[in-house]
Amino acid sequence: MAGKKLNVQKELTELAGLAEKCLQCGLCSSICPPTRFSEKGFNVRRLSMKILRAKAGRPASLGEIWSCFVCFDCLKLCPHSINLPEAVVRLRRSLAHHGEAGEAYKGVQLCLENMLRYGRMVSVAKTDVRKRLGLRVQPSLPEEALKRLRLLMEKLGFTEEAEMWRSLYGGGRSEEG
Ligand code: SF4
Ligand code: SF4
Repeated sequence: MAGKKLNVQKELTELAGLAEKCLQCGLCSSICPPTRFSEKGFNVRRLSMKILRAKAGRPASLGEIWSCFVCFDCLKLCPHSINLPEAVVRLRRSLAHHGEAGEAYKGVQLCLENMLRYGRMVSVAKTDVRKRLGLRVQPSLPEEALKRLRLLMEKLGFTEEAEMWRSLYGGGRSEEG
């Protein structure tokens, strides 16, 4: 059974406490790479304002948060140590639970499937060499270790979360091995 979906509005309300302290001084924007260079209109300073507006009942468009690198540079400069990268991660996670991760999910889908199937995230390159040598194209952890890892993933809720993501975005894609 798929896990419980996070509620975007609830996340925004919980994050409002962070945003209330924001001075709108712009120090975060001055260091933030995507704010300075991205063409997608991301501006980290505006994010705290959007969180507050959402608390005031005004719907916020959050599409731009996928531009954040989660590098934590803004946090280093913020006079109130407002942890906007953490807000970004929480909002992304709840948006992802509602099918709004789109392109971003495609980037991690293969890692997720590899993890579930082989116990490692990154695909093995140079598969032609392995094929020529008659080796399994995508090697996996030893059976016993894979079993233990799967048990751990289940206990931590990873498997359930993965199932939810598959149901939202399609899944089962991993490199054949
Ligand atoms: S540096 Fe901190 S206080 Fe200043 S605008 Fe950014 S989040 Fe707000
Ligand atoms: S964590 Fe995100 S918002 Fe903060 S500086 Fe890095 S890219 Fe910008």
